Amino acid sequence: MLQLQNFIGGQLVPPAADRYLPLLEPATGQVFGQVPDSDAADVEAAVQAAEAALPAWRALPAEERGRRLVRLAGLIEENLEPLARAESQDNGKPLRLARTLDIPRAASNFAFFGTAAGHFATEAHVQDGVAVNYTVRHPLGVVACISPWNLPLYLFTWKIAPALAVGCCVVAKPSELTPYTAFLLSELVQQAGLPAGVLNIVHGTGPRAGQALVEHPGIRAISFTGGTATGAHIARTAAPQFKKLSLELGGKNPNLIFADCDLADAVRTSVRSSFANQGQICLCGSRIFVERSIYEAFKTEFLAQVAALTVGDPLEEATHQGALVSEAHLQKVLRYIELAHEEGGRLLAGGQRVYLPGRCAGGYFLQPTVFEGLSPDCRVNQEEIFGPVVTLTPFDTEAEVLAWANGTDYGLSATLWTRDLHRAHRLAHQLHAGVVWVNTWLHRDLRTPFGGMKNSGVGREGGLEALRFFTEAQNVCLKL
Ligand code: NAD
Repeated sequence: MLQLQNFIGGQLVPPAADRYLPLLEPATGQVFGQVPDSDAADVEAAVQAAEAALPAWRALPAEERGRRLVRLAGLIEENLEPLARAESQDNGKPLRLARTLDIPRAASNFAFFGTAAGHFATEAHVQDGVAVNYTVRHPLGVVACISPWNLPLYLFTWKIAPALAVGCCVVAKPSELTPYTAFLLSELVQQAGLPAGVLNIVHGTGPRAGQALVEHPGIRAISFTGGTATGAHIARTAAPQFKKLSLELGGKNPNLIFADCDLADAVRTSVRSSFANQGQICLCGSRIFVERSIYEAFKTEFLAQVAALTVGDPLEEATHQGALVSEAHLQKVLRYIELAHEEGGRLLAGGQRVYLPGRCAGGYFLQPTVFEGLSPDCRVNQEEIFGPVVTLTPFDTEAEVLAWANGTDYGLSATLWTRDLHRAHRLAHQLHAGVVWVNTWLHRDLRTPFGGMKNSGVGREGGLEALRFFTEAQNVCLKL
């Protein structure tokens, strides 16, 4: 049986306590491997390896560090198929999605930050004839990168790449539910010629391995993506040690669809933003507000397209909807469906667990689910479900829909559909969301700041924001 290992000091090593957790395939419910259940001893070894590698890594010219990362990007591209298969097996997502989104994006993350390493410049502030100030950006040192299960290799590498680019060494922990591609990355890291200890990967649960990593005094910064409650816990742990924190947390994102939009595009894209990756993307729009004059037309076409989504074996080309990540997560989403009924919602589509025949008989499948008739302040419209469940709500005025869109504790992303240029800008600026898409969704440019407002997080990833995050700015003032 497949047995994953930690990657510490350039070697694949078993966990110190020799404890493992089962690795389940969500599409079948079957155990297909084991993942280390690491603890503080493994974290200690990884931090020590990172500290030992740090002086040489930070002393390398940025272009040289960048070259290794670009090489790693190339190796990910060469291994697209096995990586995509591993991601699909581990997470339940359609193989097609892993092939076209997750793995290519993981390669792009390393290529982007690898090339950015050579462009990263610092600022100088000249006071004419008086003084010149210039900023030195020192790599922070050894940093922790902790990622969730929904876009496993995509989000794992999104954190690691900028940290390595600026000269930090990394101890990274992927989700214990989806560690397979991070393990495969270990082998590619060796081939890419990253010196031993520059990137260390420790597998295990949040409370054991994750907590030990966050608490470790050798860790100078934590880049975390995951749930809001976990983020709050990490912030409480890290604050007394004054560790730098980047927290990318949950969302409850609105789609605002106005009558003057391109309706066909708005419907097609909203189906995708509702159900891509079984609704398990932090950027999925789960509250769909539609201007009343086009509400019925939108609803009819939306439901027709939802009915055409195939729930099936993630390995089959025709499958649009794979499995949810775990039985526990499926049960959580089913409880929200019950709650939607209790809160007075009218079920328009789905709502049931799906039992597939054959290989996938034990898998965690759910129909794409649509409700209407729920008030914007009910729990279903306030709490993050993180599954294939959305609500449709008609609105009458711009002020009303803006208040509803902003009326949650979250503020990650929002999607606006209108052809009115003035309205698009006016509303975008008033939305409490770190990312606003107008007439599109999930269109990403890796140079842009990425992150959430309110309970959706602290700090921004992407481009210069990420490079700066992993550095300590120092000002040097020279009298002229
Ligand atoms: P989670 O918070 O349960 O776990 C995320 C990671 O944190 C895992 O690796 C886990 O092992 C680790 N962890 C848990 N407890 C820890 C602790 N005490 N100390 C250190 N590490 C700990 O989240 P999840 O269920 O894996 O992911 C789903 C959540 O992630 C959703 O809320 C989703 O919105 C969010 N998410 C946010 C973004 C974003 O960019 N804002 C992107 C993807 C997912």
